[in-house]
Order: sequence, then C-alpha cells, then structure tokens
Amino acid sequence: MTDLSATVSDRGAARWVRGHPWIYRSDVIKAPADPGIARVLDPRGRYLGQALCSPRSEITLRLLDRSDPTIDRAWWAERIRQAQARRVGIDANAWRVVHGEGDGLPSLIVDRYDRWVVVQLLSAGLESVRDDVLAALVAELAPAGLLLRNDVAVRRLEGLPESIELVMGEVPRKIEVREGTVRYLASPWDGQKTGAFLDQRPNRILAESLVPEGGEALDCFSYHGSFALHLAVRAARVIAQDSSGEALARGAENARLNRRDNLEWLEGDAFEVLRDFEHRRRHFDAIVLDPPAFAKSRAAIPEALRGYKEINLRALRLLRPGGFLLTASCSFHIRRPEFMQMLWEAAADSGRVTRLVQLIGQGEDHPEIVTIPETGYLKGAVLQVR
Ligand code: SAH
Repeated sequence: MTDLSATVSDRGAARWVRGHPWIYRSDVIKAPADPGIARVLDPRGRYLGQALCSPRSEITLRLLDRSDPTIDRAWWAERIRQAQARRVGIDANAWRVVHGEGDGLPSLIVDRYDRWVVVQLLSAGLESVRDDVLAALVAELAPAGLLLRNDVAVRRLEGLPESIELVMGEVPRKIEVREGTVRYLASPWDGQKTGAFLDQRPNRILAESLVPEGGEALDCFSYHGSFALHLAVRAARVIAQDSSGEALARGAENARLNRRDNLEWLEGDAFEVLRDFEHRRRHFDAIVLDPPAFAKSRAAIPEALRGYKEINLRALRLLRPGGFLLTASCSFHIRRPEFMQMLWEAAADSGRVTRLVQLIGQGEDHPEIVTIPETGYLKGAVLQVR
C-alpha cells in the first residue's frame, strides 16, 4: 500500500541526502496515523522517497527507496537477492543474509543456519508488510523452516509485542553449524541473538592462526566455546571461560562434536578469573576477549571504558613473549577511536612492548555503511607482545 503520505522538515530530508535512512519524529511534520509504507514529501511537497513508517517510534521513517516503485513482494525479493549476492564464498554454512540498514532493508534481520532461516522484524512499519517480506524470504531462500525471533526489546519501542513464532516448515532446537574447520551447535529457539554470534565468524577463523602448535590459549566470555574451538585446533590446551554455566555446557557439547579433549570449561566472572591468573602467574600464548556490550547507553561509556581497560591490561600481562591478544567490543556507544585509545592506555600500563597486528571488525555479512553508524558496532584488534 503506497497511498499514505508523510511530510518531513528540511533537516529530516537532509539526513537522506547525507546517506542515513532514518528520520526522527522531531523532523516529521505530518505522518500517517497507522504503520505502513509512506510516500515522503519535503515541506514544499517535493517527493523524496518511500519509507517504512512507525508512528509510535522515535524513528518514525526508515527509507526504503528514493525512486517511486510499487513496494510489493517482488520489490522485497529483489533486495533480498542483492543481499544474497554480497555473500558468496563465505567459508561456513551459517551467516547473516540481511543486515538491516546495511543491506538497504531497514529493521530486517535474517540469519541463515544451514537450511534454516531465523528472522527479526524490528519496526512497526516492517511488521505491517510482514506477509510480503516473509513470502519473499521463503521464495528467495527456500528454507526448510523459518522462525521469527521477535523476542527483542526494541520491538517495544515500536509498540510491538515480543514473541517467538514458527512461520513455516520445522526448525530444530539445535542446528549444526560449520565454520571454517570447526563445527558448533546453534540454538535458534533460545540462544542469544538468533542462535549464535555470527558477527565474529572471520575473527574466530583468524584466531586459529594466533596460537602456536602445542601452545596454551584462553578464551574469555566464550559463550558456547566459539573462539575456544578454533584456538583448540592448534593449541595443546584451551581454557574457555564464561559466567554462564549453561553456555559452557553447550560448549562442552561442541567440543565433543569436534572430537576435542583439549578444552577446559571455567565458570566465573572474567574480571576475577583474569586477576586470579595474574596472581598465580599463569601465562598463555593467545588470549581472546569478546565481552558483552559494557556500554548499553552513552552515560555508561566512562565506566565501560574502565572495564575494557582492566581486562585488556590484565590479558596483556598474562601473555608469554610473542603471544597474541584478540580483543573486541560490541558496544555501539564506544566507537573505534575510543576503543583504540583505551587499548593504547592498557598497553602503556602493561609495560609490554605491544605491536598492532591487525584491526578487526564484524564479518562481511554484517555490512557496515559509513554514513549509518548504527550498522557498525563490533570493533577490535589483534595485538602481539614482545
Ligand atoms: N565469544 C562468543 C560471544 C560472547 S558473548 C562468540 O563468539 O560466540 C558474551 C558472553 O559473555 C556471554 O556468553 C555471557 O554469558 C558472558 N559474560 C557476561 N558477563 C560476563 C562476565 N562478567 N564474566 C564472564 N563472562 C561474562
């Protein structure tokens, strides 16, 4: 339906010109009363584009198309095909097929796990065209089953309920995923995000090469052992650490799946575990730090930076000469410059000669558009100490 129209201020219109698809409520002069797809005009009545409209959200408009096509099932299918085409050659059978705004499909998340697909509809505007979107996904991806993981808090800001819903076919409780040389079980119904943290895939594969044959490695904030399993390919011994015993139990199951017996599962708080290792003068050849977002809001940034610095400082001190640290932050509110500044301060305090090996970010299946900061959240680095 394209018979709804909205009018936005010049400032709102300028956002689209500058490459950001959102127009906030404060820049909307007139909007339809109900969620849907709106034709958007500037204050002089000039046509600007079509957008998803969420009347109750602070983000009222999300740009879909600046030309004037009919936004129907075929339109969604074409955008999904374009997203698919950006993802050929991934060395895994699970990846993000649609990364919302990063793929020109605002508020739509689609993750593939082998033959199954897990979807999140994150705005009221998108929810209003749900049938077209889901039909296009089924047609383009031909999944064995499609699950909606709409149990996401941001839906409340859109006036939408949270729910988990099987839309077509069957989706198993556990799906075996292959990632490079490693296999693990994703939990589409009740795992974090849509069942696994797909954004770190290339960094996990990279981690495999950071530990010498027969070395010792530590994976902090391991979840179900995703980095640890890669480290264990060459290491003699890997400690996988997490505060969730339930996640670690699934990690142990993943180790069995890979026929590995060189992993140890350590439940506890990473801050305490790192402090304890330092007291006991334990050392490692490679350490991974992949914590949850410490900064959930702008106000939390200073405290979060102190937390990041503490774990990075301790990890650097625990490394043997020549050892590698792979460190990351998924806090949207902490951008790359602040993260790198924190890391340099940790390196300075550690007293170790620290070399920057590589900057890392989210995988290519999570495209980060530079004019849309919200599409990028994962940043990090690989460091080596002398
Ligand atoms: N590295 C994982 C993802 C980690 S997500 C992967 O690539 O799949 C962050 C993890 O940190 C979660 O599993 C969560 O249980 C754990 N966590 C949160 N707070 C923690 C703490 N203080 N100490 C240790 N683990 C923590």
